[in-house]
Order: sequence, then C-alpha cells, then structure tokens
Amino acid sequence: MFDIGVNLTSSRFAKDYLDILKRARWVGVTGIIIIGTNVHNSNKALSLSQENKNYCWSTAGVHPHYSNKWSEDSYSTLRCLANNPEVVAIGECGLDFHRNFSEPKQQIYVFQSQLELAVELNLPVFLHCRKAHNSFMSILKPFIPKLKGAVLHCFTGTDTELRSCLDENLFIGITGWISDKNRGGELRKIIPLIPYTKLLLETDSPWLLPQDIHPLPLSKRNEPSFLPYILQQVAFLRKEDLMELDTQTTLNAHKFFSI
Ligand SMILES: [Zn+2]
Repeated sequence: MFDIGVNLTSSRFAKDYLDILKRARWVGVTGIIIIGTNVHNSNKALSLSQENKNYCWSTAGVHPHYSNKWSEDSYSTLRCLANNPEVVAIGECGLDFHRNFSEPKQQIYVFQSQLELAVELNLPVFLHCRKAHNSFMSILKPFIPKLKGAVLHCFTGTDTELRSCLDENLFIGITGWISDKNRGGELRKIIPLIPYTKLLLETDSPWLLPQDIHPLPLSKRNEPSFLPYILQQVAFLRKEDLMELDTQTTLNAHKFFSI
C-alpha cells in the first residue's frame, strides 16, 4: 500500500509523527507522499521526507486556499525546493470555489503558474479541485500534453466529472470519502469506472477519517495506518481482489512519482 496524500506537516501530527510513521509501516504502508500546501510547509514537507528517506517523499506547491499568499518570489522558491530529489511533484495546486478562501482570479493565476513550473521541471502535478470542475479543466487541458503526469487527489466529483478527467488521462486519488455512504454515495457507484492503472489511494490525513473504522478513534484524527480501510472499500466496490489491488495501486504510485 502506498499513501499518496498525507498532510504530515499538520499541527495535529506535530507531537507524534514518528509514531504515526511507525504504525503506517506496521500495517503495510510502504511509502508516503507528504503534501505541501504553501511555501512554508512545502519546505517542512521536504525536511520530513529527508529525515525519512526512501519512505517519505514530498510535493512542493500552493493550495488554492493559500493563493492569496502567493508572492513574486513564490515561483522561484518552489523551483528551488523542487530541485531536491525528495520532491516528486508540484502541488497541491488547483481551484477551490467551495470555500473561496482566496479570490477565484488569484486562484487561477496561482494554479497556472504552478502548471508552468511543473512543465519547466518535468514533474507531475498533484491537483485539488472542489466545486470548480469546468474552470479547472479548461485551465488544465492545454497543459496536459506537456505535463509528465497529473493526479486529481481526493476525487469527490460526479460521474460526468470523472469521465472528463479520465478523458484527459488523469490519475485519480481516492480517500476515505469512499466509505462515507452519504457524502460518498455517488463516488461509491462510479469507482469501477476508473481504470486499474489510473487508481491511487490516499488518506489525506489528518482529514477525512474513514467512517468504517470500529471503534472510531476519539480524536477523529485520520492517519496513514488507516489506509487499509480505504483499500478494502475500493476492492469491495470494484469487486476486485484485495491483494491485487494493493499491488497495482502501489505500482501506480511508484510509476506516477518515478520512485
Ligand atoms: Zn486537497
């Protein structure tokens, strides 16, 4: 199992992140991507991956929520971070019109800048999209032929949205959203549409605690050692063999991030 999305720089992991990594190894998670969501924590994500070589890698980027913090030197700072071999993707970047913590116009500019950076450095992109599908796709499309690869992480969209992502050859990241029978109802139906070779698994921890953990941890904190719950749900809904799905999604992660 490979967890392609962990927010290990979150303050909720500050006290015990080494235990978190230990528990992840214990349940069979063989690698982790630490997500960078702004310049500061992309730096921190890099340090954590350097401290845990060959188990953790990181991304460098600015999440749409932080687009208003983008400054003139953000591009060159991210480029500098991404020159380290532990940084295996640009992002997370994209659009989030659900909460609009940053102005849509600014989000679009910052998204485009990071797509340009990914092309310049020949790195794949780690994408976020929430309630912004049409704008997101129209910005992304012209970059697709030039990009090394693209994964839409934490996919929570509709049937039509999924099909349009697959038409553009995107990889799809699946989180514990899949075990939420209410919010994840549509995703649970359409998950068999994703080709075997495009499927990636992630906890997006500490967020999105899988709802089928018994008993649910009192802290409500998600962590990479809960990835097996996601694997199980995905295998069940796709009617696939658990071990094979484990092997394939791990292989997909290694291929996608070139590690
Ligand atoms: Zn995200």
